This record gives sequence, C-alpha cells and structure tokens, in this order.
Amino acid sequence: PLVLGIETSCDETGVGIVRGGTLLADAIASSLEEHARFGGVVPEVASRAHLEAMVPSLERACAEAGVRLADVDAVAVTSGPGLAGALLVGVAAAKALAIGLGRPLYGVNHLAAHVAVDTLEHGPLPEPCVSLLVSGGHSSLLLVEDVTGTVDPLGSTIDDAAGEAFDKVARLLGLPFPGGPYVDREAKAGDPAYVVFPRGLTGQRDLARHRFDFSFSGLKTAVARWVETREQQGQPVPVADVAASFQEAVCDVLTRKAVDACRTRGVDDLLIGGGVAANSRLRAMAEERCSAAGIRLRVPRPKLCTDNGAMVAALGAQMLARGRTPSSLDLVADSSLPVTTIAS
Ligand code: ATP
Ligand code: MG
Ligand code: FE
Repeated sequence: PLVLGIETSCDETGVGIVRGGTLLADAIASSLEEHARFGGVVPEVASRAHLEAMVPSLERACAEAGVRLADVDAVAVTSGPGLAGALLVGVAAAKALAIGLGRPLYGVNHLAAHVAVDTLEHGPLPEPCVSLLVSGGHSSLLLVEDVTGTVDPLGSTIDDAAGEAFDKVARLLGLPFPGGPYVDREAKAGDPAYVVFPRGLTGQRDLARHRFDFSFSGLKTAVARWVETREQQGQPVPVADVAASFQEAVCDVLTRKAVDACRTRGVDDLLIGGGVAANSRLRAMAEERCSAAGIRLRVPRPKLCTDNGAMVAALGAQMLARGRTPSSLDLVADSSLPVTTIAS
C-alpha cells in the first residue's frame, strides 16, 4: 500500500510517500532561514510558511514518487507534540486529503515517527528496543515495545534538550543558527580533552533518582563561564577545542545512559533518532560503546534523522500493516501529546 505522511510540527514542511517499507519520496521545505535572525523558531512565521509550502510540497512528493494523489491508500500526519499553529496546518491538510480521497487518516506521534523512520533504512524494527531520541525539543530514552502502540518512557531531560544545548553553545561561540551542524564541523579540528566539562546527572547521588534522565543546562553554563573567563583575560577563545570538548561531554552522557538502559532492561538493540543523531561524534561513540557492550546499533542516515515527512509515512505504514484503527476525522492537533500516546 501507498502511504503519504505529512509533518509540520516545527519549521519543516515535510511530505513523504512510502510503499510498504520503501521510501519513494521525501519532499522537505524549511522556513529555517526566516527564523535565523531571531536565533530561534518563531511560531507564527512557521505556521504561515507551512501554509504556503503545503500544496507545492504535496505536488513535489507525488512527482518524485511518480504517483498521483488518487493512488494514495492512507494518509498519516503528525498530530503532536509540536507548535500548535504549525501542527494545525498539517492536520487540516491531512484531513482534507483523507476526506477528498476517501482514505483512512492516521494522526501519529512525532516522537514515535522519529523511531519508525528507521524501517525505511534498516527494515523491520527490532522490538523491544531502546530508543535514544535527541533533537532540538526533546531528549529521551524510551523502551519501544511496539512502535504503533506501546512505548515506555525511561527518562528524559530535566532542563534543556540536547539540540538546544548545541544551538546555545554555538551561539556563544559565534556560530550560525541552528548550531548543531556547525559545532559538529568545528569540533573535527578540535581537541575533545581540551576542557573537561561537567557530565550532568552522572554522579552517584543523581543516578539514584535520575538514572536515565539528562541535564544539559549546567553544561551550557559551564561553557559560557569558561568562554567569559578567557575573554576577560584578553585571550582568544579556541573555538574548535571548546566545541569538541562540549560535544564530547554531551555524547559521553547520551551514549553512557543509552547503553546502561539497554543493559538494565536486557535489550540488545539500540536505535538513535532525532536531529542530534546526525552528529558525527555521537554516531562514532555510540558505535564503539555498543559494539563493546554487545548491543546492535541502528541510526538512520542524517537526512532521515531531522524532521521530515517520510518518518510520518513510515509510522503510518506500520499502523496500516498492523491493522490499527484509523483516527477519527475530528482529529485535533495536540501540542503536548505525551510520548505514550502514539496514535490520536
Ligand atoms: P523536535 O524536537 O520536535 O523533534 P526539531 O526541529 O528540533 O523538533 P530535529 O529537526 O529533529 O527536530 O532536530 C533539530 C536539532 O538537531 C537542532 O537543535 C540542531 O542543532 C540539531 N542538529 C542537527 N544536526 C546536528 C549535528 N550534526 N550535530 C548536533 N546537533 C545537530
Ligand atoms: Mg527542525
Ligand atoms: Fe523532530
């Protein structure tokens, strides 16, 4: 069956088309440049951009896949979590398509879609698996028993998301927004042991209460203080070294806790997703540590890690394949949809 997926939870307007487990089209329009001068995504600007990009993106995806809208067997859409006004545009478009075509509608959870997208690259998901989801808005460890029905949250960030920390540190270092990819690039020329930055929630006492939780705001503050001190002393800031040292601290904590979660739950498969999963150091460190611990690692290619429509289509295809009940046409977007609610 042919499944079309729509994603509009943040600044990407994504339309993806899959047939079974095969990706046919992944059209993405981003309003990122319009937000850059504000240093963050502006909700109203994002909503308007989705409205303008929706029809062209649908047309582009159909052309890329070589199909007509009338060929689509089911429509899936991100119904949450995300920016309320942005989600609304995708949900309205998906409902219109489902009604117009007379096809089932699946409103799905954005986070579960970040997990399901891996089926397009590596085939059927190992279930149960542990999933580390790291993006600009989320950082969590999940036990995925069934990506279409049962996800058990093990832990999440108690302050900033990992991607948010990358973006804030990038700004401190004078790098463009969104900073993740720039920090990644700078760090390649830096010494990861130049400064030993704090590893949040890894001390004995913290582990007792927050074993699988993350905290990145202390790390961000530590980097800010370090840079400030340097500047006060009138010395240049070694950007590459600070970027590498910061990145090392983030990746160390993420991979350490992910491996610990697999061991504790007796799960042999780890899946990493979300925009930060595009980070080259995170991918390399996860590979090393998983192989040392006898854990199989799956990370989709970078383009599938950041927000896109293909991930929504992939989860919709799983819903259809597993005979899940479609959403009602009264489906409403839920900006704070909990991770445990996979279909709404
Ligand atoms: P959500 O949190 O709802 O999933 P989002 O727009 O933040 O939304 P993504 O597109 O998955 O989701 O992730 C964007 C984030 O990923 C940004 O914070 C960006 O800096 C970060 N990122 C992207 N590439 C890299 C990289 N190579 N290294 C580190 N961070 C990266
Ligand atoms: Mg984004
Ligand atoms: Fe996302």
